[in-house]
This record gives sequence, C-alpha cells and structure tokens, in this order.
Amino acid sequence: MKIAVLSGKGGTGKTLVSVNLAAVSGNSEYIDCDVEEPNGHLFLKPDNVQEKGIYVKVPQVNYDLCNGCRKCVDFCKYNALAHIRDRLIVFEEVCHSCGGCAMLCPENALTEKNKSVGKVLEGNSDQITVRTGMLNTGEVSGIPIIKDLLDESNFGSCKNVFIDCPPGSACSVMESIKDADYCILVAEPTLFGVHNLNMVYELVKIFKKPFGAVLNKCTDGENPAERFCHENNIKILSKIPFDSELGMLNSNAEIAVFKSKKYKELFLTLLDKVTQEVQNEAAINSQR
Ligand code: SF4
Ligand code: SF4
Repeated sequence: MKIAVLSGKGGTGKTLVSVNLAAVSGNSEYIDCDVEEPNGHLFLKPDNVQEKGIYVKVPQVNYDLCNGCRKCVDFCKYNALAHIRDRLIVFEEVCHSCGGCAMLCPENALTEKNKSVGKVLEGNSDQITVRTGMLNTGEVSGIPIIKDLLDESNFGSCKNVFIDCPPGSACSVMESIKDADYCILVAEPTLFGVHNLNMVYELVKIFKKPFGAVLNKCTDGENPAERFCHENNIKILSKIPFDSELGMLNSNAEIAVFKSKKYKELFLTLLDKVTQEVQNEAAINSQR
C-alpha cells in the first residue's frame, strides 16, 4: 500500500510520522518528496547511497538561424521567451519543457538541451529503501524530481511505501498524493493548525482520496484541530503527545520507535489502523 503523509505547513510532524511508520513497517520504502527541504534521510541514515541527476529539456537558440519572427514568443503561454533588442531570450526558470517552441520554429532555430534541476538519492537503512529528492537552489518546480521518485518502475517488492509530501497544497503536493492509496493529514492543536489542516483536507477531498488525521503535539488543553476533525467527521487515527522525550529524540535525529517502547506501540497501532482503513477502502471499491 502507498501512504502519503501531508500537512498544511512544514514542522508539523510529517517526517516524524512517515519515518516512524516506515521503521515499524520493516520491509518498506520511504520516499521524501519534500524536495526543497528533505530531512527524512537524516533520521534513516541510508547506506550505499546512489545518486541520479534529474534533468528537464529547455530550448536553446541558434542565433545564426533565428530571423526574429517571434512565433515562438507568441506561442509560449508561460512567457518563457522574449524578443528583446533583436535577440531571442529564454527564461529557463519559467520554461515548462513542453517542447512546443522547438517544434513550431519555421527556421529550426530552436533545439532542446538538458538542464539539471536536482537529484534523487537512493540507499538502504536496514529493511527500508530510502529515496530522497533534492531540488537545486533557485529552481521553481520540484515536479520532475517527484515524478521520478514516484515512478512505479523504481519500486521494489516491498509491501508498504510511505510518501513524505511537500508542505502545503500546491502542485507538488498534488503530484505526490495522486497515486496514493491513503492519505494521513498531520496537524497541530492550534487555530493556525486548523487553518493548515483545512488546506490539506480540501485537497484530499478534491482528489477523492481516503484519509485520516494524526494530531501531533497534543496537550491536555483545548485542541481546535481535534474539534475541527469531529465537526467534519474526519477520523482521528492517532494523537501524539507533546513530549520532551520525543522532542529530544527528534532533535538528535533518532527514530523514536527504535528508542522508545511507548512510541513503538503508538506507531504500530497507527500502522494497523491505516492498514485496516486501506483494506476497508479496497473492499468498498470492489463492491462498487
Ligand atoms: S520562431 Fe524561430 S525564428 Fe522565429 S523568433 Fe522563434 S526561434 Fe527565431
Ligand atoms: S518549451 Fe514550452 S514552455 Fe519552454 S519556452 Fe518553449 S514553449 Fe515555452
């Protein structure tokens, strides 16, 4: 099963949840799609890491052939081309690599070249395959990296895949959850946490994904995120306490389930619940 773990903002506990679920799951894959700030590998510390560059195609101009007709400029709906002072300029950062301009140029003045946008690292941490995407500084879109991370042909024979999504609800998050069997929404017990939870709640509804919530940093006091879940019939899968022991393990980049019996039990219970939810969903879908 493929489980996507998402939250409306960073620092909510998405990596804590996905890394620890992968750890209690044993034979599994952990995929870090938070390509601007991947940090799951800091906990899992994979060995034998292999690196692969990720490239996109961008146009390059042969100025000897370009006659300045501007057909390509008019065609590009992303405004990645401009004709300024008798010269065609390519703004590579906003190019979406559609290839259209090179195809339509009547003078064959445009060809495509590879441009590096980042890399994918793959290694092993005991029984866990760890795949991490890293976006180059200054690049706008991590989607080509996320597509490579989630390419079916890259998956091994492990039974569970845990996808640590980028924060928020932008295109990169949509790309990360689109093939997931189930989504876990991680939220904090504050009003701001409710705002962020609502963002990802709306997203999973649009994608018609089955989902449940994990409430992190819970105290005995008021919990607006819990109230939001009750009001919207969102299943609460687990409540992780606000706990200095867990905070210390996290800040030392330790995996809680390997260090604490209490957290091993908590994440095993969460894994059981999610597995049950996915099986229920599969049964409902087969009856449709
Ligand atoms: S379509 Fe071709 S010839 Fe015309 S401006 Fe673009 S690159 Fe130059
Ligand atoms: S490849 Fe597509 S997006 Fe990029 S400059 Fe050409 S037309 Fe624009």
